Amino acid sequence: MKLYYDLHIHSCLSPCGDEDNTPNNIVNMALIKGLNVIALSDHNTCKNCPAAMAVGKQNGLVVLPAMELTTSEDIHVLCLFEKIEDAQRLEEHISRTRQRVRNRPEIFGRQLILNEKDEVIGEEEDLLIVSSGVSVEEVASLVSSLGGIAVPAHIDKQANGLIGVLGAFDFGLGFRMVECRTDTGIDLPRLCDSDAHTLWDIAEAEHFLQAETCSAHGVFAALKKMCGE
Ligand SMILES: [Zn+2]
Ligand SMILES: [Zn+2]
Repeated sequence: MKLYYDLHIHSCLSPCGDEDNTPNNIVNMALIKGLNVIALSDHNTCKNCPAAMAVGKQNGLVVLPAMELTTSEDIHVLCLFEKIEDAQRLEEHISRTRQRVRNRPEIFGRQLILNEKDEVIGEEEDLLIVSSGVSVEEVASLVSSLGGIAVPAHIDKQANGLIGVLGAFDFGLGFRMVECRTDTGIDLPRLCDSDAHTLWDIAEAEHFLQAETCSAHGVFAALKKMCGE
């Protein structure tokens, strides 16, 4: 079956994410757009994924746990998972290596952790967008060892894109899929996501995956198949 997707969406936990990007608002907007599956991918954290996944379950939208990891070179890598526990293990790993820089909410915005009723249950004090200690050489195998898929994010963008930072696409880094909205000529399967920081940025039902079932397992199996696994 065709599943329309947007696998790169930020919530109000990302410093740059709009405060209206709550779990309920994101899920409802994705449903209005006609999407079947989304992934919540905040910078270096998956702490709003449990709420978004719960809201998705209540409303018939598949929500994959994810995170947009910043490598030590300042390259953004979308890390997609089937299970929240695996995403949390990645967060544990990178939170030990991430630079400790205090967030300045007046400049970067607040970093709010919400429950499935969109109630604030916490606030991340350290700035999430800083580099982790994970290098671009190790990220693909690290994420794969935790059961996830690492996808270099927005490689057609200069800022924080793999090609923009490194100067060329290095196939030896082990990535099996890329994310971009324009054709970069890289001969790998491609995801086309919104990288939405506001509700109105969330993708229209335009790009789809071919999956066996409309479930996190079905979507993840489809992604793995695209990666040749
Ligand atoms: Zn990014
Ligand atoms: Zn992003």
